[in-house]
Amino acid sequence: MFIKDFKVESLNVKYTENEIHSVYDYETTEVVHENVNGTFQWIVKPKTVKYDFVTDTRVPKLGVMLVGLGGNNGSTLTAGVIANKEGISWATKDKVQQANYFGSLTQASSIRVGSFNGEEIYAPFKSLLPMVNPDDVVFGGWDISDMNLADAMARAKVLDIDLQKQLRPFMENIVPLPGIFDSDFIAANQGSRANHVIKGTKKEQIDHIIKDMREFKEKNKVDRVVVLWTANTERYSNVVVGLNDTMENLMQSVEKDEAEISPSTLYAIACVLEGIPFINGSPQNTFVPGLIDLAIKNNVLIGGDDFKSGQTKMKSVLVDFLVGAGIKPTSIVSYNHLGNNDGMNLSAPQTFRSKEISKSNVVDDMVASNGILFEPGEHPDHVVVIKYVPYVADSKRAMDEYTSEIFMGGKNTIVMHNTCEDSLLAAPIILDLVLLAELSTRIQFKSEGEGKFHSFHPVATILSYLTKAPLVPSGTPVVNALSKQRAMLENILRACVGLAPENNMILEYK
Ligand code: NAD
Repeated sequence: MFIKDFKVESLNVKYTENEIHSVYDYETTEVVHENVNGTFQWIVKPKTVKYDFVTDTRVPKLGVMLVGLGGNNGSTLTAGVIANKEGISWATKDKVQQANYFGSLTQASSIRVGSFNGEEIYAPFKSLLPMVNPDDVVFGGWDISDMNLADAMARAKVLDIDLQKQLRPFMENIVPLPGIFDSDFIAANQGSRANHVIKGTKKEQIDHIIKDMREFKEKNKVDRVVVLWTANTERYSNVVVGLNDTMENLMQSVEKDEAEISPSTLYAIACVLEGIPFINGSPQNTFVPGLIDLAIKNNVLIGGDDFKSGQTKMKSVLVDFLVGAGIKPTSIVSYNHLGNNDGMNLSAPQTFRSKEISKSNVVDDMVASNGILFEPGEHPDHVVVIKYVPYVADSKRAMDEYTSEIFMGGKNTIVMHNTCEDSLLAAPIILDLVLLAELSTRIQFKSEGEGKFHSFHPVATILSYLTKAPLVPSGTPVVNALSKQRAMLENILRACVGLAPENNMILEYK
C-alpha cells in the first residue's frame, strides 16, 4: 500500500513549529587488532553512539543557477520543470504524455515505512523530511552561448516537438548570463559557441559572478541559492604546490591571474566566498586542494563530481551484484557512442581524459571488499572508450562487456546495450542534487561527547548516490556501490525523524 505522508510518534522525536528533533542510537562496530594471549586477533566490538539531529523544517524559496544553462542538460531541466509546473501534456505517437519527474530519487522513488495488517506500507522518498518542491524552484545561470532557452531546447533535440511548441513561449525570454570562458580548458571545437563571455582578469571574473548571484537572489526574491556546473567538461588543471594547493595559494594565484586556474574553479571560488553551495556535475578537478581548503574553512557545501546517469550507474549496480554473489569480474570494457555537444567536446584527448579518470575508479571499493576473489592490489581489466557519433545525438549508446570467472574455472560474459537518452537521465539527477544539497544545509547534529551542533562536513558525501566519482573529505572511504549509497542517504534522513535504518530483516513475519 502507498501512503502520501506520515508522522513519527516516538519518545525520541519531537516536532516543534520550525524543527524536528531526534535522538538517535547509531549502532556501529569498532574493529581492533589486539594481542590476545600472545597472538594478534581481529576483534569486532559492537557499539552504540547517541546522536542528536535537528532539522529546520522551514522550506526556503530556492534559486538554482546552472553553469551551462543553455546546454542539453540545462535546457532540458528548465523545460521539464516548467512542463511540470504548468501541467503540460503533449501528444506523442504512442499516447498523450503528462509531465513527470521520473528518474528523480526524491520525486519519484519511495521508501518502506513499515507494515499494516500484514501489508507493506510505502511512502514517497520526499515525505521523509520537508523538501523544496521542484515546481517552485527559480532557475537561472550562465552560458558562453547567448542563445535563448527556447532555441537551446530546439538545438538540443531532446524533447518531443509538440512539447517544445508548448514550452517555447515560456522559454524564449530566458537568456543565460554571460559566462567565464577559457579556450585552454575545453575542446577547440567549442570555440564557435563562445559568443557571450565575461571579460577581465580572473579576480574581476569572480567579482562578476558574485554580482550576478546577488542580483539573481534579489530580483527573484529567493531565500537560498545553489549553483551547479553542467557546462562542458574541462581538462584537468595541474595541481601545483604554490599555485592551487592551499586556500592562500589559490587566492594569491587568482590575484596574479594565473593561467592554470580553470573557469569552473573560478565559479566555485565565487560561490564559496558568497556562502553558496556549489556542485560539480562534470568530471574535471574543479575542486583542487586549495578550493577544498577554502570550502572547509568557510564551511560551505561543495559536492561532485560528474553525474552518475547511465553506464556508470549500471556498473555500480552490476559489479556490486557480481562481487556480492561471489563471482569474479575479470574484464570490464565499456564503449560509448555519443552525438551531442558533450560528445563533441569529449572528442578532444584532454577532456576525454577527465571523463576516463572519473569513470575509472568506480569498481574499486567493490573489488577491495572481497579478498576471496581478489588478491590485494588485483583489479579487473577496465577500459572505457568514448566516440563522437553525431547521428545518435543525445541518445547515447553505452555498450558494456563484463567477463567474470565463475565456479570451477568457468567464464560468464554479460553484454549490455543501454540507450541512455543522456539529458533525460541527467536532468532529474541535477534536481536531486540541488534539492538534497539544500536540505542537507538545514540539518544539524552532534554525537554524544560533542558539545555543539554542527552541519555535515562541507564536502557533501551525502550526494554520492548521484555522482560518478564521489568527492569525499580526506581520510573518508569512497563508496561507489549504488545500493549502499542509496541506503546511506535514506538512512541518514530516517535518522533525522528517529526511524531505524531499513534493515530488510522483516523479523515480524519469521
Ligand atoms: P552541453 O555541451 O549540451 O552543454 C554545456 C553548456 O555549457 C553549453 O551550452 C556550453 O555553451 C556551456 N559552457 C561551456 N563552458 C562554459 C563556461 N565556462 N561557462 C558557462 N557555460 C559554459 O552538454 P550537456 O550534455 O548538457 O552536459 C553537460 C555536462 O554534464 C558535460 O560536462 C557532461 O560531461 C556532464 N555530464 C552529463 C551527463 C549526462 O548528460 N547524462 C552525465 C554525466 C556528466
